[in-house]
Amino acid sequence: MSKNTPITVAYGDGIGPEIMEATLNIITAAGAKLDIETIEIGEQVYLRGNSAGIEPGAWDSLRRTKVFLKAPITTPQGGGYKSLNVTTRKTLGLYANIRPCVSYYPYVSTKHPVMDVVIVRENEEDLYAGIEHRQTDQVYQCLKLISRPGSEKIVRYAFDYAVANNRKKVTCFVKDNIMKLTDGLFHKVFDEIAAEYPEIENEVWIVDIGAAKMANTPESFDVIVMENLYGDILSDVAAMITGSVGLAGSANIGENFAMFEAIHGSAPRRAGQNLANPSGLLLGAVMMLNHIGQNEIAAKVHNAWLKTLEDGIHTYDIFKETVSKEKVGTKEFAKAVIERLGQNPVTLKTVEYNKSEKKVTEKKKTVKHIKPNKELVGIDVFLDWSNGTADDLGEMLKKINTDRLILSSISNRGEIVWPNGHPETFCTDHWRCRYLLENKGEVLNRSQVIELLNRINDAGFDFIKTEHLYNFDGVAGYSHAIV
Ligand code: NAD
Repeated sequence: MSKNTPITVAYGDGIGPEIMEATLNIITAAGAKLDIETIEIGEQVYLRGNSAGIEPGAWDSLRRTKVFLKAPITTPQGGGYKSLNVTTRKTLGLYANIRPCVSYYPYVSTKHPVMDVVIVRENEEDLYAGIEHRQTDQVYQCLKLISRPGSEKIVRYAFDYAVANNRKKVTCFVKDNIMKLTDGLFHKVFDEIAAEYPEIENEVWIVDIGAAKMANTPESFDVIVMENLYGDILSDVAAMITGSVGLAGSANIGENFAMFEAIHGSAPRRAGQNLANPSGLLLGAVMMLNHIGQNEIAAKVHNAWLKTLEDGIHTYDIFKETVSKEKVGTKEFAKAVIERLGQNPVTLKTVEYNKSEKKVTEKKKTVKHIKPNKELVGIDVFLDWSNGTADDLGEMLKKINTDRLILSSISNRGEIVWPNGHPETFCTDHWRCRYLLENKGEVLNRSQVIELLNRINDAGFDFIKTEHLYNFDGVAGYSHAIV
């Protein structure tokens, strides 16, 4: 007899307690071997004055079990409450968000009868670092951070997932025609890692047309790996076009921790009425069972659930007179799944989980990477200025050149406006002034930068930030403005 696996469970808010009870009843009836620790998260914790929505003691349980099955929570209205999902992801290092999006035609109506796409979303980086600044009266910025180790981890996860789950292709969505450095890195890492998996087909799409294609012909995709923002948006699109967001589960995976949930929220208006569909959380629990190595139980639950759908036993959200046979509540739906444990679907595809998905989270070596030689070659000085035209600013700043650092260009929102700008270009109060070393091949030191900043300051300009311009092994590590 194998040992029980400890897990942490949170019943959440709204419909959370009902769908969690249904889910746990089904998986324990199927023989899941679990030691359950329950923690309280969500609305009541927030309203007690804890801005994170989770008590310190709850973290102790998560540190012990490392596996979290979480029902949706309600975030109270008003400011000051931190997103519990973001906190959990960042605290536990849950770098991968996995969302299988499958259509169940003809039992759930959908425009896409053939759809079985898994979105693998990077969960920690990109614009979600939360580094935002208001820099001038008119301009705000949000920093997009993409790292090599972060990209390697998520791309490798996508390929390992494909291998472990018998998937044939991994697609990458990027926007590297515009973000040549950040998305360019993600694309490059994808190509490097794809080469290690010759048995898996790979392809790269620019995210805009890729997204359009996914929404139109999802059957042409298998696993899709994306940075955080694209993945956030497109995993909702993918779940929605299967026919119902209420049916999708999701896994958040880290090196040491994992969290499983439904993708929908706490639907407070449906709470306490035995109405909610527990399927999203149940499929999250199926992913959890696979993660902890209880693959046979996972398959047993999943197949019984497919058979229940096929038999037309549907909760109100997917009930359709034409295909459904019986409209049931949460409890009756769970009972119907339990009655079908051991059965397989007839029309829908039977799932098999005989391989351990555990290998997906095994630590792998990162791609061999030699640290490049980094040289400081210039500086971008950003000014808050609104006293004239680009040409006026250029004339004034030219006089401030040091004997090493020379003003080479001024841009506004990325467009070159000096020298030789177009008078039609709309300019805000946010100017990027690029200073480069006069003699190429020299290397700049920081005291020369400080000398320049002192001169700019003495001339009465409000410099709001600077960015150092580095070459890495002689290749520019900064973008060139649009001319
Ligand atoms: P929601 O997903 O809770 O509900 C939207 C609508 O979808 C509901 O009105 C309901 O008709 C339907 N629905 C959702 N899940 C269902 C289910 N299992 N069965 C049947 N019908 C279902 O989205 P919302 O109304 O925007 O958000 C409600 C609360 O949930 C908010 O406080 C929000 O912050 C929170 N939320 C939590 C999570 C989470 O904990 N992971 C995720 C999203 C939203």
